[in-house]
Amino acid sequence: MTRARVLLLTAALGPLDYRVPHGTDAPLGSVVVAPLGPRRMGGVVWEDESFGAPEPVGDNRLRNLFEVVPVPPIAAPLRRLIEWTSDYYLAPPGSVLRMVLPGAAFADARRPIIEYRATGALPARMTPQRIVALEKIGERQGIVRELAAMAEVSEAVIRGLVQTGALEAISVSADQPYPEPDPAFAPPDLSAEQTAAAGQLRDAVDAAKFETLLLDGVTGSGKTEVYMEAIAAAIDAGKQALVLLPEIALTEPMLTRFAARFGCEPVAWHSGLRSTERRRAWHSIAAGEAKIVVGARSALFLPYGNLGVIVVDEAHETSFKQEDGVHYHARDVAVMRGHFEGLPVVLASATPALESLAQVEAGRYRHIVLPARYGGATMPDLAAIDMRRDPPDRGRWLAPPLVDALADRLGKGEQSLLFLNRRGFAPLTLCRTCGHRIQCPNCTAWMVEHRLVHRLACHHCGHVMPPPRLCPECQDEDSLVACGPGVERVADEVALRFPEARTAIVTSDTLWSPAKAAEFVDAVEAGMVDIIIGTQLVTKGYHFPNLTLVGVVDADLGLDGGDLRASERTFQQIAQVAGRAGRGVKPGEVLIQTRVPDAPVMAALVANDREGFYSAEAAARKSAGAPPYGRFAALVISSEDIDVARRVAQVLGEQAPQTKDLAIYGPAPAPLAMLRGRHRFRLLLHAPRSFDLQGAIRDWVGRVDWPSKARLAIDIDPYSFV
Ligand code: ADP
Ligand code: ZN
Repeated sequence: MTRARVLLLTAALGPLDYRVPHGTDAPLGSVVVAPLGPRRMGGVVWEDESFGAPEPVGDNRLRNLFEVVPVPPIAAPLRRLIEWTSDYYLAPPGSVLRMVLPGAAFADARRPIIEYRATGALPARMTPQRIVALEKIGERQGIVRELAAMAEVSEAVIRGLVQTGALEAISVSADQPYPEPDPAFAPPDLSAEQTAAAGQLRDAVDAAKFETLLLDGVTGSGKTEVYMEAIAAAIDAGKQALVLLPEIALTEPMLTRFAARFGCEPVAWHSGLRSTERRRAWHSIAAGEAKIVVGARSALFLPYGNLGVIVVDEAHETSFKQEDGVHYHARDVAVMRGHFEGLPVVLASATPALESLAQVEAGRYRHIVLPARYGGATMPDLAAIDMRRDPPDRGRWLAPPLVDALADRLGKGEQSLLFLNRRGFAPLTLCRTCGHRIQCPNCTAWMVEHRLVHRLACHHCGHVMPPPRLCPECQDEDSLVACGPGVERVADEVALRFPEARTAIVTSDTLWSPAKAAEFVDAVEAGMVDIIIGTQLVTKGYHFPNLTLVGVVDADLGLDGGDLRASERTFQQIAQVAGRAGRGVKPGEVLIQTRVPDAPVMAALVANDREGFYSAEAAARKSAGAPPYGRFAALVISSEDIDVARRVAQVLGEQAPQTKDLAIYGPAPAPLAMLRGRHRFRLLLHAPRSFDLQGAIRDWVGRVDWPSKARLAIDIDPYSFV
């Protein structure tokens, strides 16, 4: 009899033993469907000796596997990566496996899927709800569930529209091949520096060995052009290339850019894909056919059949850290994947993370530097505006020097960008009469006013409400005032000061789809926009040659909050947004509004002293034992019942390991004491690098009885301290 040990797609269980039915072949890595109680569940055949080699189950208690799914087996290096990720981040292996086999993506691709799209015919009985639904769906198509989500209606409404003939069924096949990118389609004429860098990357890909290369080049130096040569080398060798981007919004422009270089768009992978697109992409990736995959962090765990290189673009971005489910950092796991698979990993950034630079210093990463912008474009000039000396008018947010600079660019027909990392109109609504502040009912957070859609919204849980007319506390009428600016409010000020200027607000609220992002780029490139007002969404990737002024509306915003990376993040963010200025022949100017122009980070930005800033920051971290020289972990205990959460946190605190090397802070209410209706208590752990933090946490947490009403989230190497 043959047996198989199977890791199932569930967080709740470790590997289980099954019987392989007679005549079936289920080698290691096979994707299978197995019985679990009354259910059918997917899983992967695994080595017996993994996960602490649990005792095998007796033959008589074995159940038969249902089937082996006809897809390529999950290869050993990826199985090792899953184990490593589970071990390092203290996450259930089944949860990690789910990122390899997401949803129904791996289901049989040959079976066609029925999607629906609008026919243009209007139903005889047209309700307002149906009209709105059809409008929101527009030209798009998808399965019933996806259309319901697009239209924000129930699935019944969609089915009703199908019955009336307003939507029609189409059969979509998920196994059509993608066009093949051509490395020789349109190679660029690289500068001498770029050629040298590209040569190093090409050689690393050809060597097909693990190595991490930090591609460190100022904004506009041509990092993308250079790493595309590594990708060309991988395709030349018959292999696949994966490019990870920090933001879905960046995928669309990147797809276009790749199409210009390789003759066709790469395969995209992100949470915005339809289920048919997902299935098609997954199968093509697993078969080794999708040659270039561009995606968000979730693309990292896919089972590439024949991967040759991984590129992490904007590798310093903290959005590579996943903040729910498995709390992994895609940059770090990408390097581990390179290690297990024996392939080079390229980290590209104009402002590398201190973590990455420390690895360079330790001799573990190769440092490839592009010191100058391509094509003779100069780096922009940065200057601080001291908001204490040069304050804006009352109730305004732009200081006189910035207003003058905007007027100057408008006069010259050049474009400007105002950066403020805050969506909406105002971050706080306050009652003038009683001082009441409108708070989210589910979170320890203020409701943010979004005036364009006439709503107050919580940026943590998504709760929305209409702006109240009366103060909810004292019932006073017309006493509520908006405090502080968001991008919408800055746009209002721009409209007041420059009524003739054409503006564009760029946030996740306005650029909510790839099509919207493309529309924005087209408008700016066509010169239809004079002033862009945007959040961090506009700080990366865009290349607008006629944009010559960047104004940072509130440079101090990221500095409060006591986050250990606050200065580093501020430096990176402002350097990135500054990098949008003067990318063409006209030089760029960057004006930074701050109340602390003498703070080291502001001084370094203005003096263009990256090295000075990094070495001071590194020294400070070293003396504090902070990352990358020491380690943190956070344990967050949460429950809808505050007493349960507090009690569990207390018990956990009492049982804390007593070791000289391990400092434990808390338990204490987390800074975000309530989130999505759950009360949160936090323990923060601090240890030297050499300390086995995971081992200590595993023993400790394993000793505590866990009530079902409380949840524990473990965050290794946290980036968020709320
Ligand atoms: P980075 O990623 O370092 O910010 P990019 O790769 O986006 O830089 O390059 C900046 C701009 O310069 C882009 O428009 C790019 O197409 C152009 N560019 C860079 N290098 C070359 C080259 N060798 N030939 C033609 N255009 C180039
Ligand atoms: Zn909320």
